[in-house]
Amino acid sequence: MRRRDIHFLRWLFGFIGLAVVGIIIFVVARFAGRAVPAALTDESPGDSGPAIRTPRPDDPDGLLDYMSGVAYITETKQIVIDRELLGIVSEEFTITEEQGNIYTVSLDMPPMEFNRYRHVGRGGILAYSVDGVAGGISVYADRPVTLEVVFNDSQAAINITTDRDTYDYIVYIDPGHGGIDQGSVRERRDEKAINLDIAFMVRDMLLEEAPEIYPILSRETDVFFDRYERAAQGSELADIFVSIHCNIYDPNDDKADNDITGTEVYYTPGQVLGGTSRARVNSVEMAAIFQKNVVESAGSNDRGVREGDLAVTREATIPSVLIELGYLSNAGERAKLFDAEYQRLLAGGIFNGILETFGID
Ligand SMILES: [Zn+2]
Repeated sequence: MRRRDIHFLRWLFGFIGLAVVGIIIFVVARFAGRAVPAALTDESPGDSGPAIRTPRPDDPDGLLDYMSGVAYITETKQIVIDRELLGIVSEEFTITEEQGNIYTVSLDMPPMEFNRYRHVGRGGILAYSVDGVAGGISVYADRPVTLEVVFNDSQAAINITTDRDTYDYIVYIDPGHGGIDQGSVRERRDEKAINLDIAFMVRDMLLEEAPEIYPILSRETDVFFDRYERAAQGSELADIFVSIHCNIYDPNDDKADNDITGTEVYYTPGQVLGGTSRARVNSVEMAAIFQKNVVESAGSNDRGVREGDLAVTREATIPSVLIELGYLSNAGERAKLFDAEYQRLLAGGIFNGILETFGID
């Protein structure tokens, strides 16, 4: 079946479901002596479509799982709640943050026999669930969010702010390797650790000097994290992807030492961009910007922008580069790469490259 047909059927069943639920709500509301609020039905403007239904034993068709009295407004990033329908009398609430960007807003709601879940979309809030039993609303987000609860006479609203709203730009900094994947190793020092040290330096520079840019690190500890997942996560969270690595001359000969030194920046020709980035450059332009800035700042040998079929630069759907800062297989450059002061120069070059990529002076 073609996608279009599936969408149509989903829409059709969703519509029929909503019509039935509408009638049920109307009848229930009549019995309860309440009017159904017109502004807060399931089809509020901006809602992303029919809810994902969680089947309940007492509701095999899932019809009751459409939420009434609660709606997500995409334009304003608000979960709007009808106070009368959910019986919210007082304006008391608490917000608790749980692991994995899940937040629970506990409201003063009477116990009810329902627990509903709705998928909303990406770009901040992923989904929310209304727990009538526990009297709260849980917000599932794909990044840290800030929640604010406001009340008026008829509604309670949970306002959601993401770092994407707060910051003009987000950079995903990817210290290469980690965990069991050491990267290149020389003199018992792992590339993964050098990459992480430099990533921290870049992040600190951004936090101190570039308030409009928010840095997200793919890893902050010595853990293994799959390259494909890094590409997916970076593409979802950020505007640009910057992977940090150190090179060796010949990965097949771990002991090889030779004269080659210098910096290379890789991008993947034909990379497919997803259109969510706010950067105004593509990966080729970005590679040139980083090549120039790192070489300028560190004074390293300029080995130029290069094409490479690398997982992170190929799979990411935002402008992406992989920087090979220098060669651990050259004794002189290795000593520099091990040195914190030289690392700071490299980090400064990456920092400048990030600013230039976003057009910030
Ligand atoms: Zn590497």
